[in-house]
Amino acid sequence: MANREDRPREHLIEPARSARSACRSCGQLITSKELRLSEAFVSDEGKWARSHQYARSARTRSYDEGDDRHGRSDNAINPEIQARYHHLACAATHQPYKLRSALAATPLEVPERAALERAIGRALAAVDVAEEAEVTRDEYLHHLARLAEDLDDEDALVFGDWLQSVGDPRGELAAIQHALETATGDDRLRLAESERKLIAANRKRLVPEAIDPAMTLTWRRGFVRRVTLANVGPAVNAAFSHPSFRLVRELVIETEHAMAIAPNLPAPLPSTLRVLELVSKAVPLGQVGAAMAAAAQLERLKLVGAAELGELKHAALVELEIGCVDAGVAAPAVPRGEARTFVERLAQLRRKDLPALARLHVRVEHGLDEAVAVLVQTKLLAGLHTLALHGDLSLAGLRELTAGRKKLEVLDLRGTKLVGPDAELGKKAASEVLSTAVGSGAATVAKRVGEWLVRHTRRPEWGIGKVVGEHDHGLSVEFEHAGAKDVRNIELLEEIS
Ligand SMILES: [Zn+2]
Repeated sequence: MANREDRPREHLIEPARSARSACRSCGQLITSKELRLSEAFVSDEGKWARSHQYARSARTRSYDEGDDRHGRSDNAINPEIQARYHHLACAATHQPYKLRSALAATPLEVPERAALERAIGRALAAVDVAEEAEVTRDEYLHHLARLAEDLDDEDALVFGDWLQSVGDPRGELAAIQHALETATGDDRLRLAESERKLIAANRKRLVPEAIDPAMTLTWRRGFVRRVTLANVGPAVNAAFSHPSFRLVRELVIETEHAMAIAPNLPAPLPSTLRVLELVSKAVPLGQVGAAMAAAAQLERLKLVGAAELGELKHAALVELEIGCVDAGVAAPAVPRGEARTFVERLAQLRRKDLPALARLHVRVEHGLDEAVAVLVQTKLLAGLHTLALHGDLSLAGLRELTAGRKKLEVLDLRGTKLVGPDAELGKKAASEVLSTAVGSGAATVAKRVGEWLVRHTRRPEWGIGKVVGEHDHGLSVEFEHAGAKDVRNIELLEEIS
């Protein structure tokens, strides 16, 4: 059997080893030798959390698994990965995704398998109208596959129109959301109300049942495009199987409430994903490298916190943003893992593992000089278009950079305190240096215009944008790689601190 430690998400069907384990769904005992679902889950109250420097007040760990608590080999290796059990019939209703994957993988003969599969089907009844009807199914899947590959905004409208023409409520949702993109005043209120009513009337089809209150969904033209999570847990995985999530492009997780983030990511990550951002100053980000494999078209990755950078391998990744609070403070990247510093991890990034990387952002509040010095030693800078630094860079740190053999196209120092003549030194390292102008005393320059740096969440490839003007319908933004753009829908802009 594969090493469980590497696969903490594994859910198994197995015979109960005693009559003492209780079903997590219904609370009743599971008969000895009866097949049960063993659900792997990450506990947030293990030893590691108690010993960790950031741990909140320790809670007492409770076992309710009877004699099984010492029986699992993976518990011995990694106590935070625990198992809890369900009757198969209970799991079909309460853990349908997990039971489905366990059923698919089990070598055991499962009695009532067909009945279980029907129950799973009922639990996962959310299916689009156009997908359900046989006459429209092929065309539905064809549209979807095309958009999943290349999410063109116009094509998304065409799909919406088609859905509406075949009576799928998602089509009407797409039309309302499209109108909302430009509506103002009373029109906007009216449309928002229509959107709310439509979703309420078709709740099961349009919104995942197990939606976490800490989950923020950004819709566009009928589908969820961006998911922002302030917490991770089982509900996330279930939500990602919902039809509304079939074109998800961006996943942002910013949380302090988990054991580790990577093991709780939707597994596998949706292949439609282009942007993944994981931010946590308190909990390890985990083994992100392995999780990324399914998102082969990922373009932008942001990792702020302790992550195993040496594991990052991705053929398509264009933009990487990495950082931490203090580059010299050691922390484990996985629960109970070896504590290492950001600088040590940075040294393990390999250019050959990230062949498409064009833009690197390093965001370090304390110790940016050290990080830059290490970066110069790696081969990562070779072939890079832009290096953007955010944090406490000093002249000494900048000098380290000028010692690099190959010039960068752009060195962005706007996130540092180096200005004017100091920043000029950067010209030895890059053809173009972006820095805040001399004497632009913050008091004299309007914060919003000129100094407000943003990123377009739909167009990460445009790079960083500088807000250069405001008008009635939105903002004028000068993007690094796309020039001047008027952005009407300003909620699509994300401020860069
Ligand atoms: Zn039960």
